[in-house]
Amino acid sequence: MLWRKTYISTSRCENLSEDLAAILDVSRKRNAETGLTGVMLVSGGSFYQTLEGNRNEVTQTFFRIASDMRHDGIIVLQDAACDYRAFASWSLAYRDLPQDHEIANRIARIAAGDKPAYRTNVMAAEMDILITSFLSV
Ligand code: FAD
Repeated sequence: MLWRKTYISTSRCENLSEDLAAILDVSRKRNAETGLTGVMLVSGGSFYQTLEGNRNEVTQTFFRIASDMRHDGIIVLQDAACDYRAFASWSLAYRDLPQDHEIANRIARIAAGDKPAYRTNVMAAEMDILITSFLSV
Protein backbone atom coordinates (compact mmCIF):
# COMPACT_ATOMS: atom_id res chain seq x y z
CA MET A 1 0.00 0.00 0.00
CA LEU A 2 1.36 3.42 -0.99
CA TRP A 3 1.74 5.56 2.12
CA ARG A 4 2.65 9.17 2.87
CA LYS A 5 3.89 10.55 6.18
CA THR A 6 4.71 14.15 7.00
CA TYR A 7 6.11 15.62 10.20
CA ILE A 8 7.78 18.71 11.53
CA SER A 9 10.50 18.69 14.18
CA THR A 10 12.97 20.98 15.90
CA SER A 11 16.62 20.79 14.93
CA ARG A 12 19.12 19.94 17.69
CA CYS A 13 22.06 19.90 15.27
CA GLU A 14 25.22 21.43 16.71
CA ASN A 15 26.52 22.20 13.24
CA LEU A 16 23.52 22.25 10.92
CA SER A 17 25.37 22.31 7.60
CA GLU A 18 27.68 19.41 8.57
CA ASP A 19 24.85 17.35 10.06
CA LEU A 20 22.61 18.05 7.07
CA ALA A 21 25.24 16.85 4.63
CA ALA A 22 25.52 13.57 6.59
CA ILE A 23 21.73 13.19 6.94
CA LEU A 24 21.10 13.80 3.23
CA ASP A 25 23.89 11.45 2.20
CA VAL A 26 22.61 8.46 4.22
CA SER A 27 18.94 9.28 3.60
CA ARG A 28 19.21 9.44 -0.16
CA LYS A 29 21.05 6.09 -0.25
CA ARG A 30 18.65 4.36 2.15
CA ASN A 31 15.53 5.83 0.55
CA ALA A 32 16.67 4.77 -2.93
CA GLU A 33 17.33 1.23 -1.63
CA THR A 34 13.91 0.98 0.00
CA GLY A 35 11.91 2.72 -2.75
CA LEU A 36 11.07 5.79 -0.71
CA THR A 37 10.71 9.28 -2.16
CA GLY A 38 10.20 12.56 -0.36
CA VAL A 39 11.29 16.01 0.58
CA MET A 40 13.03 17.67 3.52
CA LEU A 41 12.85 21.41 4.11
CA VAL A 42 14.77 23.39 6.68
CA SER A 43 13.17 26.59 7.86
CA GLY A 44 14.67 28.48 10.76
CA GLY A 45 15.18 25.79 13.40
CA SER A 46 12.55 23.42 12.01
CA PHE A 47 12.66 20.36 9.77
CA TYR A 48 9.64 19.59 7.59
CA GLN A 49 9.75 16.17 5.94
CA THR A 50 7.43 14.08 3.81
CA LEU A 51 8.20 10.43 3.02
CA GLU A 52 6.18 8.26 0.66
CA GLY A 53 6.38 4.66 -0.49
CA ASN A 54 5.53 1.20 0.80
CA ARG A 55 3.79 1.53 4.16
CA ASN A 56 6.21 -0.77 6.03
CA GLU A 57 9.26 1.01 4.64
CA VAL A 58 7.83 4.43 5.55
CA THR A 59 7.08 3.20 9.08
CA GLN A 60 10.49 1.57 9.63
CA THR A 61 12.33 4.62 8.31
CA PHE A 62 10.25 6.92 10.47
CA PHE A 63 11.13 4.85 13.59
CA ARG A 64 14.84 5.42 12.88
CA ILE A 65 14.27 9.12 12.22
CA ALA A 66 12.16 9.53 15.37
CA SER A 67 14.98 8.17 17.57
CA ASP A 68 17.60 10.42 15.97
CA MET A 69 19.04 12.85 18.53
CA ARG A 70 19.73 15.48 15.87
CA HIS A 71 16.13 16.66 16.26
CA ASP A 72 13.20 16.37 18.64
CA GLY A 73 9.66 17.63 19.20
CA ILE A 74 8.26 15.62 16.29
CA ILE A 75 4.67 16.47 15.31
CA VAL A 76 3.10 14.15 12.72
CA LEU A 77 0.92 16.08 10.28
CA GLN A 78 -0.01 13.40 7.77
CA ASP A 79 0.05 9.59 8.04
CA ALA A 80 -2.23 8.08 5.44
CA ALA A 81 -2.61 5.98 2.31
CA CYS A 82 -2.22 7.90 -0.93
CA ASP A 83 -2.98 7.25 -4.62
CA TYR A 84 0.18 8.68 -6.14
CA ARG A 85 3.64 9.97 -5.22
CA ALA A 86 3.83 13.75 -4.91
CA PHE A 87 7.67 13.59 -4.86
CA ALA A 88 8.27 10.72 -7.29
CA SER A 89 11.41 12.28 -8.81
CA TRP A 90 13.32 12.66 -5.56
CA SER A 91 14.77 10.06 -3.14
CA LEU A 92 14.92 13.07 -0.82
CA ALA A 93 14.65 16.57 -2.25
CA TYR A 94 16.14 19.23 0.00
CA ARG A 95 15.72 22.99 0.25
CA ASP A 96 16.76 25.53 2.85
CA LEU A 97 13.84 27.95 2.75
CA PRO A 98 14.46 31.68 2.62
CA GLN A 99 12.93 33.67 5.48
CA ASP A 100 9.50 35.07 4.64
CA HIS A 101 8.90 32.47 1.95
CA GLU A 102 5.21 31.48 1.97
CA ILE A 103 6.11 27.86 2.82
CA ALA A 104 8.44 29.02 5.63
CA ASN A 105 5.63 31.13 7.08
CA ARG A 106 3.29 28.14 7.01
CA ILE A 107 5.88 25.92 8.72
CA ALA A 108 6.29 28.57 11.44
CA ARG A 109 2.51 28.61 11.98
CA ILE A 110 2.41 24.79 12.13
CA ALA A 111 5.29 24.74 14.64
CA ALA A 112 3.60 27.39 16.77
CA GLY A 113 0.38 25.35 16.62
CA ASP A 114 -1.64 28.52 16.93
CA LYS A 115 -4.62 26.93 15.19
CA PRO A 116 -5.45 23.19 15.13
CA ALA A 117 -6.34 23.61 11.43
CA TYR A 118 -2.62 24.03 10.69
CA ARG A 119 -2.01 20.42 11.75
CA THR A 120 -4.42 18.48 9.57
CA ASN A 121 -4.26 16.20 6.54
CA VAL A 122 -5.92 18.92 4.45
CA MET A 123 -3.22 21.40 5.40
CA ALA A 124 -0.49 18.82 4.65
CA ALA A 125 -2.05 18.11 1.24
CA GLU A 126 -2.02 21.85 0.48
CA MET A 127 1.63 21.94 1.54
CA ASP A 128 2.43 19.04 -0.86
CA ILE A 129 1.07 21.10 -3.75
CA LEU A 130 2.95 24.26 -2.72
CA ILE A 131 6.20 22.34 -2.18
CA THR A 132 6.09 20.38 -5.46
CA SER A 133 5.62 23.60 -7.42
CA PHE A 134 8.43 25.24 -5.39
CA LEU A 135 10.76 22.28 -6.18
CA SER A 136 9.94 22.50 -9.88
CA VAL A 137 10.99 26.16 -10.25
P1 FAD B 1 23.01 4.68 12.36
O1 FAD B 1 23.52 5.88 11.61
O2 FAD B 1 23.97 3.77 13.03
O3 FAD B 1 21.90 5.17 13.40
C1 FAD B 1 21.64 4.51 14.62
C2 FAD B 1 20.72 5.38 15.42
O4 FAD B 1 21.38 6.58 15.87
C3 FAD B 1 19.52 5.84 14.60
O5 FAD B 1 18.38 5.72 15.42
C4 FAD B 1 19.80 7.28 14.28
O6 FAD B 1 18.57 7.97 14.31
C5 FAD B 1 20.76 7.74 15.35
N1 FAD B 1 21.84 8.60 14.84
C6 FAD B 1 22.59 8.40 13.75
N2 FAD B 1 23.51 9.37 13.60
C7 FAD B 1 23.35 10.20 14.64
C8 FAD B 1 24.00 11.40 15.05
N3 FAD B 1 25.03 11.93 14.38
N4 FAD B 1 23.56 12.01 16.16
C9 FAD B 1 22.54 11.50 16.84
N5 FAD B 1 21.87 10.37 16.53
C10 FAD B 1 22.27 9.72 15.43
N6 FAD B 1 17.20 8.33 7.21
C11 FAD B 1 16.67 7.70 6.14
O7 FAD B 1 16.99 6.54 5.87
N7 FAD B 1 15.75 8.35 5.35
C12 FAD B 1 15.32 9.62 5.59
O8 FAD B 1 14.51 10.17 4.82
C13 FAD B 1 15.87 10.29 6.73
N8 FAD B 1 15.48 11.55 7.05
C14 FAD B 1 15.98 12.15 8.18
C15 FAD B 1 15.50 13.42 8.54
C16 FAD B 1 15.98 14.04 9.70
C17 FAD B 1 15.44 15.40 10.08
C18 FAD B 1 16.96 13.39 10.50
C19 FAD B 1 17.48 14.06 11.74
C20 FAD B 1 17.43 12.14 10.15
C21 FAD B 1 16.96 11.51 8.99
N9 FAD B 1 17.42 10.23 8.60
C22 FAD B 1 16.84 9.60 7.51
C23 FAD B 1 18.56 9.59 9.27
C24 FAD B 1 18.11 8.49 10.24
O9 FAD B 1 17.71 9.09 11.48
C25 FAD B 1 19.26 7.51 10.48
O10 FAD B 1 20.40 8.17 10.99
C26 FAD B 1 19.67 6.79 9.20
O11 FAD B 1 18.54 6.28 8.54
C27 FAD B 1 20.67 5.66 9.47
O12 FAD B 1 20.17 4.86 10.49
P2 FAD B 1 20.86 3.49 10.91
O13 FAD B 1 20.11 2.90 12.05
O14 FAD B 1 21.05 2.62 9.72
O15 FAD B 1 22.34 3.80 11.28
